[in-house]
Amino acid sequence: RMAEPVFEDRVPAGERVGILPLGALDRLLDYKAPEGGCSPGAFVEVPLGPRKIVGVVWGPGTGEVPEARLRPVARILDAPPLRAPMREFLGRAADYTLTPLPAMVRLATRAPGLTEGQVTHNVYRLGPREAGRMTDARTRVLAVLRDFPDRSFTLGELASQAGVGTAVIKGLVTQGAVVEEEAPRDRPYPVLDLGAPGVPLTPDQMLSAAALRIGAEAHTYNTTLLKGVTGSGKTEVYLEAVAETLRQGRQALVLLPEIALTGAFLARVEHRFGAPAAEWHSGMTQTERRRLWRMAATGGASLVVGARSALFLPFRDLGLVVVDEEHDTSYKQEDGVLYNARDMAVLRASIEKSQVILASATPCLESWYNAQTGKYARLTLPARVGLAVLPTVKAVDMRLEEVTRGNWVGPTLTEAVAQRLEREEQSLLFLNRRGYAPVTLCRSCGHQLGCPHCDARLVEHRFMRRLMCHQCGETFPMPVACPDCGAEGKLAPVGPGVERLAEEVAALFPTARTAVLSSDLYGSAKSLKEAIEQIADGAADIIIGTQLVAKGHNFPKLTLAGVIDADLGLYGSDLRAAERTFALMRQVSGRAGRADRPGEALLQTYQPHHPVIQAILKGDDEGFWRAELDGRRMAGMPPFSRLAGIILSSEDAQEVMDKAVEMARHKDPLTKIGAEVWGPAPAPIARVRGRHRVRLLVKADRTAPLQDALARWAAQFRFPSDLRLTMDIDPQSF
Ligand code: ADP
Ligand code: ZN
Repeated sequence: RMAEPVFEDRVPAGERVGILPLGALDRLLDYKAPEGGCSPGAFVEVPLGPRKIVGVVWGPGTGEVPEARLRPVARILDAPPLRAPMREFLGRAADYTLTPLPAMVRLATRAPGLTEGQVTHNVYRLGPREAGRMTDARTRVLAVLRDFPDRSFTLGELASQAGVGTAVIKGLVTQGAVVEEEAPRDRPYPVLDLGAPGVPLTPDQMLSAAALRIGAEAHTYNTTLLKGVTGSGKTEVYLEAVAETLRQGRQALVLLPEIALTGAFLARVEHRFGAPAAEWHSGMTQTERRRLWRMAATGGASLVVGARSALFLPFRDLGLVVVDEEHDTSYKQEDGVLYNARDMAVLRASIEKSQVILASATPCLESWYNAQTGKYARLTLPARVGLAVLPTVKAVDMRLEEVTRGNWVGPTLTEAVAQRLEREEQSLLFLNRRGYAPVTLCRSCGHQLGCPHCDARLVEHRFMRRLMCHQCGETFPMPVACPDCGAEGKLAPVGPGVERLAEEVAALFPTARTAVLSSDLYGSAKSLKEAIEQIADGAADIIIGTQLVAKGHNFPKLTLAGVIDADLGLYGSDLRAAERTFALMRQVSGRAGRADRPGEALLQTYQPHHPVIQAILKGDDEGFWRAELDGRRMAGMPPFSRLAGIILSSEDAQEVMDKAVEMARHKDPLTKIGAEVWGPAPAPIARVRGRHRVRLLVKADRTAPLQDALARWAAQFRFPSDLRLTMDIDPQSF
């Protein structure tokens, strides 16, 4: 399965050429090059049966179709071709993740108009005339256009936003109430002013920035781990590398783990360079996406900030990728094509001969190890900028605290919050549980409400007045009677969620202004962003939040971070539980005391002597990582070996287990490379959306050809059509 060498030669007219289709087909198709020939990477339209489909010129062809039956490429589309390094990256990423190449290429061609072979596309806006006869559907279309005067909608977007069929819109166009026009010719993004001086750097920042600038000048591949506590000035430092990269005429990409962080980052870029960066994430319209896709390819966008999928933009010359908060688990895509954007950034940069900067206060164990062994360079910012000092971190021993049943904030933490209120400072109470209560229990029979489709409990969300499954996302009304025993009025919440904590806080501090930050409470990324900005401005005294607040937001008035249950992450059997808890607690603690006032972090725990809690209290990250690595070394686990998770799923529990047992028995291709096979066992989530999931884990030496062996192994079996096989290389949990 090794990636084919990238094909570079222009194919003369009439010769055989392999086209990679962008639709659902998963194989190369052979055609004849059109008149004038075609170049590798070009987007073309080809006939397939009676239809026409879009594809990319990929290789010399498979030879499967006899010469006489080859059909010619219909036409070459007006889209920037995929460059050779991009095609090589996609090929190698497909090989690494064991993804069919067309599925990987589809990640890079998610630009509207491209897959449909539509070269131009139309957008819709309000027209000058009144519509004749008004219907509900027509009213909705006009209302959407009135509500979003600045957006240009494509036909499909407008139809789905208004909840109408496209014929309704076409009808309005005929009457002149809506105008249809070609999308504005793609405009480049504003040019950044690279001459503008940034803030004067501290000596530590200067050293790091100089090293990164030299890297950016070099036009060679290199990865640097930039480690520094929150507030140590990492962003300021990597913006220097961005500036140098753009000066070299190359492009830069900054990846952030959370859309809500882009607002603050854009403001920062605008402040520094006089113009904002281009944004890429799921909240953008089709027109904006199409513009950025083309501008990335032509060089009209020099600095892009985005979510993990921005890594698949077709940059003309990508010189730098920054992965900010590189430890964040949201860089791993867990749906569809499974990839880790952090690792793919390194792969892409090694092909494009560019720099990678991994920035974090708490790098993941793998990155720390790679820096330790010299595979990555390492730069450290040891202190916070200016007067800000790191918060003091203390454990609150909950065995000694008096807390009434149904309450979770102990007297020590309550007192600390009261002090902040008095001094007009902000407090953060952190609880990593969305909703009102994690469990709803029948006090009569003990039954716990569970999702009918998943192996998961239903979580009460009082804000929505519904129960929700956090696996499949389905919601249900709260039943009056227990579905098991029929008893009425006996269903009761057990345990705390952020919504319930907010109730407790309101009772404790009736006059304080509280804000709950939890992803499900905000309808859109935009409303969440606004809420965060208001909180940063001081609109709340007490912030109650889930994991969302740990992700690098800056709240200048915050001086207290209280962790409601520091033990929460330590109970799992997952080998990464300690690492995750450590990182999360450090991130949360780091929220406190960023400006001129010192911060304090209080960790409520029943196990103050647990080694992870001790490491957090001492702030000894190097010691913690060394101990974790020793543990991994003894167990022979990553990064000292490599893992792959093979998940089989089907609605038929017996079928999926039988197939997994069969696979575990016929494992010769794996044994040959010295790999071990564990399982089958129920997957970490054993049932999702009605499908039973069974997992096999394969462990191999770091240097063994794992992907190749996995492919040969899987090829031995026949899978019934309803059974799905997913390969997860480097799984997050093991
Ligand atoms: P990090 O990315 O490590 O969290 P930032 O780069 O965001 O740190 O810096 C933290 C804060 O300090 C920001 O408000 C930033 O504007 C400010 N800052 C950073 N470097 C300097 C400097 N050299 N002089 C003054 N303020 C700085
Ligand atoms: Zn469910």
